[in-house]
Amino acid sequence: MAGRENAGRVAVRCLIGVVGIAASLAFVWICKRLVDIATGNIDADLRVNIGLMVAIMLVQLSNNILASYYEGLILVRIENNLRGRLFQHVMRSRWNGRDALHSGDTVNRLETDIYTITELIATRLPDIIITLGQLVCASVFLFMMKPGLLWVLLAIMVVAVVSSRLCFFRIRKLSAEIRAKDAQVQSFMQENLLHRVLALTLIGVDRVTGRMDQLQGELYDVNVKRLNFNSVARVFMSLGFAAGYLSAFLWGVLGIRSGAVTFGMMTAFLQLVGQVQGPISQIARYIPSVIHSLASVDRLSELEDLETEPTEGNVLLQGLPGIQVDNVTFGYEKDKPVIENFSCTFQPGSMTAVMGPTGAGKSTLIRLILGLMTPEKGSIRIYDENMTVDAGPSARCNFMYVPQGNSMMSGSIRDNFLLANPEATESDMTDALRHACAQFVLELPDGLDTVCSELGAGLSEGQAQRIAIARALLHKGQILILDESTSALDSTTEDHILSDIRQNLQGKRTIIFITHRKTVADVADAVVDFGDRSQKRKNTHEESV
Ligand code: ADP
Repeated sequence: MAGRENAGRVAVRCLIGVVGIAASLAFVWICKRLVDIATGNIDADLRVNIGLMVAIMLVQLSNNILASYYEGLILVRIENNLRGRLFQHVMRSRWNGRDALHSGDTVNRLETDIYTITELIATRLPDIIITLGQLVCASVFLFMMKPGLLWVLLAIMVVAVVSSRLCFFRIRKLSAEIRAKDAQVQSFMQENLLHRVLALTLIGVDRVTGRMDQLQGELYDVNVKRLNFNSVARVFMSLGFAAGYLSAFLWGVLGIRSGAVTFGMMTAFLQLVGQVQGPISQIARYIPSVIHSLASVDRLSELEDLETEPTEGNVLLQGLPGIQVDNVTFGYEKDKPVIENFSCTFQPGSMTAVMGPTGAGKSTLIRLILGLMTPEKGSIRIYDENMTVDAGPSARCNFMYVPQGNSMMSGSIRDNFLLANPEATESDMTDALRHACAQFVLELPDGLDTVCSELGAGLSEGQAQRIAIARALLHKGQILILDESTSALDSTTEDHILSDIRQNLQGKRTIIFITHRKTVADVADAVVDFGDRSQKRKNTHEESV
């Protein structure tokens, strides 16, 4: 998951760590040397060696500062890099009428799990590598001085690590449970904040906060369970640590009494014990957090495993396009087709009303035309006089789509327009507002710069729908799809928009209305009726499909 770029950053961090190891071993060596000079075991210049000690300390100090600065830097870089890549992957993932995960869960993975993994890559992994290096070097140093002491220390630490490992499998399982519960809490909060009015009116705040308390209580319980297992694992490690230090200390004391150990060697022993045991206990301490991170690796792998849409580039038809739906069968579940052997044609420049009762499959047809989903059988093609392209991601740029309900993004109205067409000029925007009967925007104190918050809060639904129509009209495609887009408007405004669209766009754009209102069907020149699965063209002929 790290990628080559991230691997390079980790390598640099390890390199800084190697300098740190060398400096800390040099420090042990100079301490031993100074004590031996002071006690007369070595004959050398004390001032030169003190100078050497100060120099080593300065190297250690600057290396530590550099290490933590670089670590902070790669933490942000790796986090941004991973989150950007995964966000793009999720955005490009196939959509089958509903998302595989709750949006709150996805955000939780993109935030918390990415942070956990970033910490693993930027901090834990280099630390483990550096610590292992430190362990090997300190062990070699100690082996050269007193091999027996090294074996005793290693044996004690191995027993301690193996004992504490018994808890690790359980810790991993609990970590996965915690991550899932945490995501549940986030999804719950996000959903209730999004539907706060529903929470205030229909559900009741007490019930919402009660459920929140319950979820947090469950999260607390699993956390406590994991904490208990972590503590047991830590007790084994601490016992091993204490036993190792005691052995080295007694070894040194007995050695001094028998004259086999100098004071300098004793100083080196005690420092090396720390440098052998410290890394082992540090690695053992890292193991639970690496295990916690593995739960995050699994959760992010689930995001990575989402199948993505092909990215073949946009195919924008130059002529006025039509749509040919040929013998299409599609169902959200196996063997339960919503649309079966369905055919119809949306002629270039035509204005078609797709009608029928709720649940008949109107939106499903539009999703198929937009290439958001793929038919099980049959084909959907977008064509002009020169070329034909299959419905799918690359044909999507041909559509000006107005989704159902309030689809405003937070930001100003101008920001929303620029999303549809980054090159739209002031006069393009004014024209679009006029065609969508949304001139009221220009009369607002801030006009196009009026800021609407999330989901267009601050605007009535009818106003938001009209702005959404204007936004779609700014897009470069030539097929305008309005999905129940005039449903929140009063009949006068609806009539205005329809007659404006008819007057300005008929014959210049291919227009599809999804509607259950007869008024909309009246202005159209063709009707696809999902009630009896027929397509009727006014003034021309009538055909059954
Ligand atoms: P309409 O737009 O005509 O109201 P839809 O196309 O939304 O109808 O739905 C057609 C049928 O497909 C309905 O029975 C609906 O329950 C079902 N359906 C719609 N979306 C999904 C989905 N994401 N998963 C499963 N079934 C769905």
